[in-house]
Amino acid sequence: MKRLPEMFGSNVFNDEVMRERLPKDIYKALKKTMEKGTHLEVDVANVVANAMKDWAVEKGVTHYTHWFQPMTGVTAQKNESFITPTGNGKVIMEFAGKELVKGEPDASSFPSGGLRATFEARGYTAWDPSSYAFIKDNVLCIPTAFCSYSGDALDKKTPLLRSMEALNKQALRILRLFGNEDAKRVISTVGPEQEYFLIDKSVYEKRPDLIYTGRTLFGAKPPKGQEMEDHYFGKIKPRVAAYMQELDEELWKLGVLAKTKHNEVAPAQHELAPIFTTANIAADHNQLTMELMKNVASRHDMVCLLHEKPFAGINGSGKHINWSISTDTGINLLDPGITPSQNAQFLLILVAVIKALDDYQELLRVSAASAGNDHRLGASEAPPAIISIFLGEELTAILDAIETGKCYQDKEKDFMEIGASVLPHFQKDSTDRNRTSPFAFTGNRFEFRMLGSNFSISGPNIVLNTIVAEIFSQFADVLEKSNDFQEDLNKLIQSTIKNHKRIIFNGNGYEDEWTKEAERRGLANLKTTVDALPSFVSDKSIELFTKHHVFTESEIHSRYEILLENYYKTVQIEALTLIDMIKKGVIDSVLSFQGELVDVWTKKKSLDLEVSKDMEEKMISSISSLSSKLSQYLEDLEKSVQNAKSYSDALETAEYFKDVVIPNMIKLRDVVDELESLIPSKYWNYPTYGELLNSV
Ligand code: ADP
Ligand code: MG
Repeated sequence: MKRLPEMFGSNVFNDEVMRERLPKDIYKALKKTMEKGTHLEVDVANVVANAMKDWAVEKGVTHYTHWFQPMTGVTAQKNESFITPTGNGKVIMEFAGKELVKGEPDASSFPSGGLRATFEARGYTAWDPSSYAFIKDNVLCIPTAFCSYSGDALDKKTPLLRSMEALNKQALRILRLFGNEDAKRVISTVGPEQEYFLIDKSVYEKRPDLIYTGRTLFGAKPPKGQEMEDHYFGKIKPRVAAYMQELDEELWKLGVLAKTKHNEVAPAQHELAPIFTTANIAADHNQLTMELMKNVASRHDMVCLLHEKPFAGINGSGKHINWSISTDTGINLLDPGITPSQNAQFLLILVAVIKALDDYQELLRVSAASAGNDHRLGASEAPPAIISIFLGEELTAILDAIETGKCYQDKEKDFMEIGASVLPHFQKDSTDRNRTSPFAFTGNRFEFRMLGSNFSISGPNIVLNTIVAEIFSQFADVLEKSNDFQEDLNKLIQSTIKNHKRIIFNGNGYEDEWTKEAERRGLANLKTTVDALPSFVSDKSIELFTKHHVFTESEIHSRYEILLENYYKTVQIEALTLIDMIKKGVIDSVLSFQGELVDVWTKKKSLDLEVSKDMEEKMISSISSLSSKLSQYLEDLEKSVQNAKSYSDALETAEYFKDVVIPNMIKLRDVVDELESLIPSKYWNYPTYGELLNSV
């Protein structure tokens, strides 16, 4: 193995390579484009493209692709080779600036939510120079944004970049108020913790539900699940360790800062966390991480499950988004700092985040909504579907003191004046082990814990950046006009706390009592995806996103349609898969075992001896009554899926799947699980939970 520092980023066309391979003036021009988002001249692009190609070809690469993130949630690419015919039956390897900067994939088969009529199939991809090109599977990948021909965003990168721009613009206004003239840019930084399951390929291949839907649609509880809590941070099995090692190496080569790896709570569950970086790069890197997790698993004869809830009754997988804002001069704006003046700025930024979450709680909820994540949120393993903020004791006490105009008494029992010039000192709250909060302050950043493991992190980052930008802009509007900055700043902080403290909750979010309390506080409790999504198309949402140029109104509507469609299509595929597995596998198991029972019973009966047939009779009777339920519920589910065809409106269809199809699936699943627990393994046609979870 190469030494790590040499290996790190070896497949990335990064700053070091650029500096080495580009003429000075070209390098400078490119850097300017990267940092300021300025236009790239064609002649510059030509030189860059050529250097990229030479670098890639030296590494054995023959193709390039524009790598983008359409609304499918996975990344897409169409590989093109570098060859150009020379006219004498030979080829040379060429890569022009215009090919680097812009691509025109046929966009007609990507979800657009009605944005792009298929007759206008052209979409285009545009290079995002702020994210480095890299080599993956022998292809030079160029990170790009994906838009329709009329300029509507069809991907997750474009709005993320726009939201970062909005945040930058408004945050700089806040910094200037505090006399900070050095910072030229403010960026959001993100570190996503990624959970996943590993199972053996041989058992995976016998479960059509895992293959088609990513989760098990039935499975009786194994005798041992996660109740011993012996897996969390436990010793990593050699096979998993080898996988993690290779995954780390692959990620390092791509410049991904893979840092921590450990076992998670559920059996067969693990986590990987990188060191945080700029939101946009973090999003690209997280997509790459998920892709590599699957590819590397396959090389080890395993399958990596990224579904939010692959197994019922066992923890699902989430993705925690650690989010902060920082200046280009390296100052983390959510760091409380130690000097009072910095504290005043910090407190203003902190209350801005609090207000943003309170004002736009529904939108953050929307960003974590999917059919799969509905199985997790509120299920006593992930935060509830109610948005609240955990601040910890110390910060809460400070805010209380400011709100009531009282002094804040710190740990040394010194009384302190509250005022912009003498705000209290405080230390990082290192006590945060409240895992039940959806949005927790963890010392110098917030951790958003609602996201499911297979989401792109772009969604919540778009929302966070935009809602915080909005509050910054409201604050700046007030303070820029102020004649007495200190006084008005104090008032603003105080009134913001007063008006928005309902969103702060430091208690246990898993308790029922919290749900009631949240209702008393008037907080939204959008239990399912279908309940949550309409908030995305509300007037308030449209006003917010259009004001900050993050989404146009038609982009919002198209995304809303895509999300609804995604929801009901997911449930539909699950229902059809469940029906199919019952018809092809479960019924066969039930009949074979029943046959055997009846056989034994009949044989016993034909004996002249007086023998007990109790067991056979009991089993025949329970299995018979379960099988009659099975056939009834199967019919119910089939009919309900059929009926869905009568709906044409996306929201109505989604509601129907939530209210009718899902309950039918649950009913049916319960019967199958009961049957599974009665039927001997030699008759059961599918690997059990025990087998799946202990397969590696
Ligand atoms: P824990 O499990 O205690 O939450 P981890 O170490 O698993 O902590 O993950 C913490 C994540 O937070 C890492 O990805 C880390 O890089 C990230 N992080 C740290 N500081 C910041 C910051 N200022 N902005 C964004 N992310 C951060
Ligand atoms: Mg964490």
